[in-house]
Amino acid sequence: MNITIVGSGFAGVKAALELARDSHMHVHVITDKPDFQYYPSLYSSATGHSHLESWVPLGEIFASYDNIHVTLDTIVGIDAEKKQLLGVTETRYDYETLIIGVGTVTTYFGIPGIDQYSYGIKSADQIYQLKHRIYKDIAEEGKLDRNYVVIGGGPTGVELAGALGTYLNDLAKFHNLRSHRTRVRLIEAAPRVLPRSHETTSRKVQKRLENLGVEVQVGCMVQEETADSIIAGGRPIASHTVIWTSGVMNNPLFAAHPGIFELAKNGRVIVDKHMKAHKDIYVIGDNAATPFTGLAQTALHDAKFVAGNLRRKRRGQSMKAYTAVAPASAIPVGDRWAAFEYKKLRFYSWPAAIIRRVADFVGYSDILPIGQAIRPWVAATIKEEDYFTPSGVTPARYARKRRR
Ligand SMILES: Cc1cc2nc3c(=O)[nH]c(=O)nc-3n(C[C@H](O)[C@H](O)[C@H](O)COP(=O)(O)OP(=O)(O)OC[C@H]3O[C@@H](n4cnc5c(N)ncnc54)[C@H](O)[C@@H]3O)c2cc1C
Repeated sequence: MNITIVGSGFAGVKAALELARDSHMHVHVITDKPDFQYYPSLYSSATGHSHLESWVPLGEIFASYDNIHVTLDTIVGIDAEKKQLLGVTETRYDYETLIIGVGTVTTYFGIPGIDQYSYGIKSADQIYQLKHRIYKDIAEEGKLDRNYVVIGGGPTGVELAGALGTYLNDLAKFHNLRSHRTRVRLIEAAPRVLPRSHETTSRKVQKRLENLGVEVQVGCMVQEETADSIIAGGRPIASHTVIWTSGVMNNPLFAAHPGIFELAKNGRVIVDKHMKAHKDIYVIGDNAATPFTGLAQTALHDAKFVAGNLRRKRRGQSMKAYTAVAPASAIPVGDRWAAFEYKKLRFYSWPAAIIRRVADFVGYSDILPIGQAIRPWVAATIKEEDYFTPSGVTPARYARKRRR
């Protein structure tokens, strides 16, 4: 049985691994990136920790499977009649059975200036640009920016704001920066941070952030960003380091094919009880309109479900119906502190931080053999070689550069 998978995120990689367990399955993964990106640790890589915890080469993940074949291309067209995909390289790929897991894209809600001036942490390139902005200030101005503004009080914004202060303090000490006031601010449009969590969790997390020195503004809408300020709640904040963690929308690939995909109100693809969106096309992970879409755990669950059903189909067995599984969440806020929630269970501080570390290990071992999963997991405790200075520049040379 030939299966084509588009995307190599949580959903695509897990589906490929689950299918390849059956040696009668031939899996073709088409993806636009050579690495699997572990999103939950991007906030940590953005604040100076090893990139090895956030990027795992696909070659490493699929090394022991000779029935998985990977092609690097960006899929831009789907012809469901001919059962063909079109890549940006103008290559056409035939498929028998197709699984799509291409994730979401960032949206700026049309707020003027945000797309031009803000930074992101969703890719290696974005993280590189953010860190170089910080280093540039140190080298050229001899100081940090006055305000580091994180937009979006969801899990990513909260995790980033909680880690940013420590990173900036470390940089300030290392480079003996002129004393000045640097502030980390977190801005959220909803009335509380973590609007999808329980109110108690929102309250405790906000308190924790404030104890770490983060200034939290909730119920505050961002109106505009310029080169050196952000206007939020009608007031300007002086900053040229604004980090946008808010706003995702479904991959535009689906809206571009209205004859194939039907979209729900939130833009995700409507799927049937087998996660099928069209004849021989399955849509999983962040792309599918399921109750807990938008989470890595859901993407893994969807991948296991669809792969299990296709293995059953190959053996001539009947397919099962989808059931959504409520996810747990463990959101780290600074060192040795996290907020844990699972259904009605909630707890905070270091026990939750331990759960989060365990959950990360489970996350890595979902895509790598246990022995290999240790490497990215341990990388979270290692500082990146450019933690204090840009790569390839020794501290002494950097100090000289600053003096010039
Ligand atoms: C910063 C951040 C932190 C997060 N933290 C958490 C967390 O702590 N816990 C949690 O449960 N969830 C978290 N999430 C959400 C989680 O990462 C997503 O739910 C999960 O990645 C969805 O998996 P997916 O496979 O559907 O999409 P993705 O993981 O986004 O994978 C999509 C894949 O498709 C590829 N692709 C895209 N377009 C094309 C194309 N046209 N052609 C070919 N390939 C394409 C991409 O390169 C990528 O490989 C976080 C998300 C972000 C952005």
